[in-house]
Amino acid sequence: TSFSELGLSAQLVSALTAAGFTTPTPIQAKAIPPQLERRDIMGIAQTGSGKTAAFGLPILAGLAELGGRANPMTTRALILAPTRELAVQIDEVLHKLAGAKLSTVLVLGGASRGGQIQKIARGVDVVIATPGRLKDLVDDRKLKLTETRWLVLDEADRMLDMGFINAVKEIARAIGPRRQTAMFSATMAPEIAELAKGLLNDPVRVEA
Ligand code: AMP
Repeated sequence: TSFSELGLSAQLVSALTAAGFTTPTPIQAKAIPPQLERRDIMGIAQTGSGKTAAFGLPILAGLAELGGRANPMTTRALILAPTRELAVQIDEVLHKLAGAKLSTVLVLGGASRGGQIQKIARGVDVVIATPGRLKDLVDDRKLKLTETRWLVLDEADRMLDMGFINAVKEIARAIGPRRQTAMFSATMAPEIAELAKGLLNDPVRVEA
């Protein structure tokens, strides 16, 4: 399979080729087509499987289709991750996949809140965040989630282990039911199944 056979645009495929991505990994081959058809997905995949591009590419395709730019104080996509390190990695991969013209903001605990708020004020394509700080900015009305169309929960099992479950649920509720949601976890523990049941709408299950 090639990336264009998965339904990605010629423009994205050439950005991928430039980034050295020629062949989709198994999780990418399985997860990208349903997301391009606006389906929610539950992905079981480990780090190193290529899961970042598996959820990132459908968002980049959707952003290109939307065109224009995000309104002030809003983000079009939100990616939640358990740790700062993972959030930074996701941001790097997204920029590599997108080429130059993607606006992202990292919203992480322990980093300058003022700087994050300033960047969000202009409007953002993708916010990549740890749940605690993100919820803090939403509660303070520094970020509005009313125009967010894509929600990703990466390494959901670790987010649960770290006690982020309530923050995650409240953030999902603030986005509202019209979102498209992708959830990734290394395992399918009962608590993950339970969370998926609450947050995903008729999901396609994909495994690496
Ligand atoms: P991830 O599992 O998302 O953390 O990705 C692991 C690494 O594999 C990252 O450095 C990606 O840049 C790289 N990668 C992901 N998908 C592909 C692909 N289809 N072709 C080549 N490299 C890839």
